Amino acid sequence: MQQHIQVTIVGSSNVDITALMARLPGPGETVLADSYQLSPGGKGANQALAAALAGAITEFIGAVGNDSHAGIALGQLEEAGVKLDRVTRASEPTGVAIIQVDSAAENSIAVVSGANSTVTGEAVQAAGSIEGILVLQGEIPASGIKAAMDAATDRIVLNLAPVIELDREYLLKANPLVVNEHEAEAVLQQLNPQLNLEFAGKYERLAGLLVDEGIDSVVITLGANGCLVADRAPLENGGAQVRALPAVKVKAVDTTGAGDAFTGALAARLANGDDLAQAAEFAGKFAALTVQAHGAQASYPRSLQNL
Ligand code: ADP
Repeated sequence: MQQHIQVTIVGSSNVDITALMARLPGPGETVLADSYQLSPGGKGANQALAAALAGAITEFIGAVGNDSHAGIALGQLEEAGVKLDRVTRASEPTGVAIIQVDSAAENSIAVVSGANSTVTGEAVQAAGSIEGILVLQGEIPASGIKAAMDAATDRIVLNLAPVIELDREYLLKANPLVVNEHEAEAVLQQLNPQLNLEFAGKYERLAGLLVDEGIDSVVITLGANGCLVADRAPLENGGAQVRALPAVKVKAVDTTGAGDAFTGALAARLANGDDLAQAAEFAGKFAALTVQAHGAQASYPRSLQNL
């Protein structure tokens, strides 16, 4: 039976190559590392897995290489039942993040986009129609993001991480824009370079100003401090309303991929009919489970019993 897709993610998939070592090498230096591991990553793939595990019928559209990393990049998605028919095989290698971590958990990361750079406007157009809620991040070319937005038929969740330049008309299609506090500031600067941002720490104002610029709704994630949800108040004045949702108090051991877990789970709940604040509350609980285990995709809950 053909299943009706509820969430489509157009984005990146990578293999994370993580080496653990006592201390990071300086320029020109070689250090012996203790161990390494290969694990699936990339914001798009992480969010697709989170959306599927949070209960949405999910499709992932992206690109991998014709290499042995492709299977690692997509393995968890396949296992979770994410539709992968429109993931293309590029002549570029599967994207990789080369991560060095020292004993104090300090890291340095180099990302090679590889096949993800082929998810261009042309490629996304060729993929055809997009079903359900569309989820996007900043790890594919801007042309691919714009083409996906043009093809969207439902609301668009834009997690602009990393922040890349998008035309104003495309930024305003986000509903919600999901960003952390640093990204929120960078997006506001894009929309209104004249604004004086001398109110660091006042994230409620930041969220409200993004809505005032014309974005229908905004979620700013604040790590262990939870998140802010902003949208337009249903009053005649139409000003922004901002609500703070505290995080669940947990002992965090590794926050890698927590933001992606949050965004994927948020989209899944929106697709199932929650309003934005309800969806953000669920996403916060889902993300709080992931910070209590190591890794990105490996830490995502395989059962929703504890939610
Ligand atoms: P990013 O990694 O994109 O900066 P955040 O660190 O803001 O994302 O985390 C996203 C969400 O994950 C937060 O809004 C919160 O709900 C949850 N979260 C992150 N860190 C913690 C933590 N230490 N305790 C509980 N929840 C957390």
